[in-house]
Amino acid sequence: MSQTHDLIVIGSGPAGLTAAIYGHRAGLEVLVLGGPAAGGKVARHHHIENYPPFPGGVTGAELMVKWLAQAGQEMGAYPSETKVERVDFSSRPLSLTAGGEAFLAKSVIIASGSHPRRLSVPGEARLDGKGVFYCATCDAPLLATMDRQRALVVGGGDSAAHTALGVLPHAESVTLVARGGFRASPALLKRLESEDKVSFVTGRVVKEVLGEEAVSGLSLEVCDGGGREEVPGEAVFIGVGNRPATRFLGDAVELDDEGFILTGPELATSVPGVFAAGDVRTTPLRQIITAAADGALAAQSAAAFVQLEGA
Ligand SMILES: Cc1cc2nc3c(=O)[nH]c(=O)nc-3n(C[C@H](O)[C@H](O)[C@H](O)COP(=O)(O)OP(=O)(O)OC[C@H]3O[C@@H](n4cnc5c(N)ncnc54)[C@H](O)[C@@H]3O)c2cc1C
Repeated sequence: MSQTHDLIVIGSGPAGLTAAIYGHRAGLEVLVLGGPAAGGKVARHHHIENYPPFPGGVTGAELMVKWLAQAGQEMGAYPSETKVERVDFSSRPLSLTAGGEAFLAKSVIIASGSHPRRLSVPGEARLDGKGVFYCATCDAPLLATMDRQRALVVGGGDSAAHTALGVLPHAESVTLVARGGFRASPALLKRLESEDKVSFVTGRVVKEVLGEEAVSGLSLEVCDGGGREEVPGEAVFIGVGNRPATRFLGDAVELDDEGFILTGPELATSVPGVFAAGDVRTTPLRQIITAAADGALAAQSAAAFVQLEGA
């Protein structure tokens, strides 16, 4: 008969590691099934400027090595890199399958994160971080380091509109590029249309990100056989949304239309004893600092649940 853990945390990014630290300190016996990306996607970010207190910034690797070390020290073991394959939350204790093995838990925190959707066009991967960006909140201030500040924002929905608004204060011009029309909410569109330095290009499909060492623009295909054209710019912000890592959950918890986990104020999901933290949940801001705060709150909620409800 396998052990029933007080708390199993899924994910070892800022949300999962913080949940593990707080869960352990609240007296829970914690197991982290961290998945293949130890430290989460932050570990691969070159430079983080907006996570205090690091005047001048910190590399993602430096930050997450320390975060992993603190979690490991706290729990007496480093998070496992085992990936959760499926869950069964229909009965108690809660059950998870990872690496072909079954795990049981009184409470679970899902902190499996999300990934930005990519265009998958030539030049995008090569120029990632060198003018191709996926997060306006994180990277728009980098425009100040470029010779010119012509920003190109790809996408036609709310995600692109929010990205454009985030880029706006840092750019000399912002050009939104969309395949069809702009589907962003009317209030966002109105706000963008009122700005002189914002322009809209529709009926164009991005075929390539141009530039050798740095971005120089986009190559676009005009829909309905209109041929190719180029639009110049020093930065390309891809605003086509995020993909949550929730496939392994099936329909075990309630998700929103895009697959993110719906949570209440204390980060409870639709299943008692199951909580969600960080990028994987429906939230207006996906940042390191909000993921860490979520991890702390979810752990506190899980500890209260285990104390009151037991297994
Ligand atoms: C290009 C880019 C730049 C960014 N720059 C900044 C920045 O400068 N500042 C800032 O504050 N934020 C930045 N962010 C946002 C930041 O990276 C996220 O908000 C943060 O990583 C969220 O942490 P998380 O723990 O929720 O998820 P993640 O960091 O995505 O971690 C998810 C974890 O879940 C694990 N996992 C996934 N699936 C499974 C599974 N099935 N089983 C077990 N484990 C699983 C993974 O292995 C990983 O450990 C940036 C994002 C991007 C995309």
